Amino acid sequence: MQTSLIITAGGKSVRFWKDAPRDLKRLSRTVPSKLFLPLAGRPVLFRTLDAFRGMNEIREIVLVCPKEDRSWIRAFFRHYHEELPRLVAGGKTRSESVYRGLKETDPSCGRVLVHDGARPFVTAALVRRLLKAGRGSRAGALLARAVVPTLKQQSARGGWAVKTVDRRFLFEAETPQLVPRKLLLEAYRRVPQAFMATDESSLIEAAGEKMKLVSHTSWNPKITTAADFRIAEAFLLQSEGPLLRTGLGKDLHRLVAGRPLMLGGIRVPSERGALGHSDGDAVLHAVIDGLLGAAGLGDIGEWFSDRSKKYRGIASALMLNQVLEAVRSKGWSPYHVDCVISLEKPKLGKFKDRMRRKMAALLGLKADEVSVKAKTAEGLGRIGEGEAVACEALVSVRRRP
Ligand code: MG
Repeated sequence: MQTSLIITAGGKSVRFWKDAPRDLKRLSRTVPSKLFLPLAGRPVLFRTLDAFRGMNEIREIVLVCPKEDRSWIRAFFRHYHEELPRLVAGGKTRSESVYRGLKETDPSCGRVLVHDGARPFVTAALVRRLLKAGRGSRAGALLARAVVPTLKQQSARGGWAVKTVDRRFLFEAETPQLVPRKLLLEAYRRVPQAFMATDESSLIEAAGEKMKLVSHTSWNPKITTAADFRIAEAFLLQSEGPLLRTGLGKDLHRLVAGRPLMLGGIRVPSERGALGHSDGDAVLHAVIDGLLGAAGLGDIGEWFSDRSKKYRGIASALMLNQVLEAVRSKGWSPYHVDCVISLEKPKLGKFKDRMRRKMAALLGLKADEVSVKAKTAEGLGRIGEGEAVACEALVSVRRRP
């Protein structure tokens, strides 16, 4: 049976911003809610959606959000080239928001999954367990975790622990929750104060039905406070590795008469040019090797064999393009490049800025995110004698959102 997914993103993160440390609070003016903050490099909401993308069982995704935030959210998804779910204007409470989303779902989908936008750790495996459990249940199923701490009931007037609650039968309700579409719609019609329900299962209970409890031991917390956010971030940095990496690239080309001198993607007027299988651009080659190093993708020789006819005379800008694509598809994206060129003559002073701009354009960076420095070798060695040009580059990449 096909399933609709409703993601709730209706809140304004009031509790979250209230206790947030200054560095997070600073961001409160730039995003409509915590769901759009980068969590270890990837926005919370994108991480939440990741588990459901690519699940054949899910026909459609409806995102319920405040009406006034819709155009901002559309632009946000577009900016990161993420597929935009259907946006539906939410209501005053979570339950009212779910109801509005529900009315917009495809009636041919028999079941509805409801999931909190602020639970980014749900996995496809957990969702599939829930879907499977739901097949054997008339009123659907919910994900839940056994309560672990010792629970106390306090005296009627407060202040005294009068009883230890038997926790064997207690579970913490989580999402996703899976409900037959018709049953959920009917519950909204029949239950007075349906809009006050804090989750679907309490609404279904109020309508006299029982949902199946799918207990699990994975980690599927709801990010409510800034402390939750920090813990989630630490967890992800531990499991996914660091957000930034640096790669080092070096190259050297012999200089000969009768060849053009290409450096950093531009042609530099010179009596001698770089000998090479490609156009011999030592700067772009060093940058390419830096990129490959940062992304753990080998070196330029493995990518562009100098024995292959295909690459004879190839423009290094094309090589860079191809490598950049591979680096991006491995989840990395350059954000800074620094290179040092060693060349006796011509003097590069007046070409450095053009190189910077050219490389920035090739890498999709701003000009001030690329640095080009030039040195002579003071007449020493083969470079000093004008026999060769060399370049070293440090390329920094960050994890792509
Ligand atoms: Mg080379």
